[in-house]
Amino acid sequence: MKTDWKNNIHMFSALILNLILPRSCAGCGKSNEAFCENCQGISYKYGAHCLICGFRNNDGKICYEHLLGKLNVLWAGRYDGALREAVRQLKYRKRKELAEPLGNLLYKKFKEIYPEIKSKNCAVIPIPLHFKKEHERGFNQAELLAREFSQLSKVQFLTNMLIKIKETPAQVEVKDKEKRIKNLEGAFSVTENVLSFTKYKTIILIDDVATTGATLIHAARALEKSGAQKIIGLVVAHGG
Ligand SMILES: [Zn+2]
Ligand SMILES: [Zn+2]
Repeated sequence: MKTDWKNNIHMFSALILNLILPRSCAGCGKSNEAFCENCQGISYKYGAHCLICGFRNNDGKICYEHLLGKLNVLWAGRYDGALREAVRQLKYRKRKELAEPLGNLLYKKFKEIYPEIKSKNCAVIPIPLHFKKEHERGFNQAELLAREFSQLSKVQFLTNMLIKIKETPAQVEVKDKEKRIKNLEGAFSVTENVLSFTKYKTIILIDDVATTGATLIHAARALEKSGAQKIIGLVVAHGG
């Protein structure tokens, strides 16, 4: 009986410590770090490429021949190793503190490719989750990332512009590339707040992972219909 009581105290204090102390690095396990500098460094890939064919370019533009509309997409790294682990822990283990180092990577990538863009001409919008999904998870990881990016870059964060109106299966569960793109048709819609965003020259759309780019493409289309001129997708990781 006595040991049970002691065990419970131990378990309880471990739980509290877990809550108040930063835990170990998602990539390498180093203590007192969310995602250490070394893991951030090895995750970061320089340059910009077409999301669909990988063709290297200056600005992340999707090649014209893929016929997907005018969209540029940048990603900080590949969805594998330490970076995949960090994204997964943010989403599924609800380690919200990971949004900060991952937001750093987004900012670093944006500055690398678009050093000339003035933050006052831009706005940042997170890719929304369907409300059921957000309720289930308790937060939208893209929103946490967008807020971090906004703080670092001083780019205005716009809330409640886009909504996801269609529940869709997780992209990684749909194997066929064409199907993934079809699946998301009409998945996003703009809200009435969108009227106020046309003053921004560039809209930066933030998400955690891009695979085929279907999510970004459909979200961008919804914004384009409402007058967005230039849209840059900015994601933590490509692949998955
Ligand atoms: Zn590490
Ligand atoms: Zn291409």
